[in-house]
Amino acid sequence: MWLIYNIFFPLVLLAGKILRVSPDQTEAYLINLNNRLRRGKKGKVEKILILTPSCLQNKDCKNNIVEDAQNCRKCGTCKIKDLLELSEKYAVKLAVATGGRLARQVLEDTQADTVIAVACEKELANGIIDTYPVAVHAVVNQRPFGPCVNTDLRVQDVESIMRRICQSH
Ligand code: SF4
Repeated sequence: MWLIYNIFFPLVLLAGKILRVSPDQTEAYLINLNNRLRRGKKGKVEKILILTPSCLQNKDCKNNIVEDAQNCRKCGTCKIKDLLELSEKYAVKLAVATGGRLARQVLEDTQADTVIAVACEKELANGIIDTYPVAVHAVVNQRPFGPCVNTDLRVQDVESIMRRICQSH
């Protein structure tokens, strides 16, 4: 596994750049491969984290969910409500990050070893490589208004991963 994540994955990204393959295509390939490799991996609930970017929050919402996801008032305008409810249902942590650096900090702080990460292809592909050996289950977000604003996701995708990886003590 170490060789795959530390050598093969970065090489694929590099080869994609040299061969001028569209970055989205290369990143999607790595994300799919990663998800297949991680598919059978179970996690203990206390070590599982749902990590999502702050662009999932409705841009007009003033609640500081980056500081604490519990600050969401569950109004239902955006999918933060659904993720919060999912995290409560499965008793796992939910964190919202403003970027890759903060996401890595959150991982360090929470000591999670299994992450369901929601983001765009670029952030996911880089995050999967950077955070190894953390098991990242990647969910690509939807961007109906373009990148980084009022993004969306299929909550059922997150829940089906959750059902698969959740393991009681
Ligand atoms: S669901 Fe939560 S984060 Fe989204 S707009 Fe409502 S209060 Fe804000």
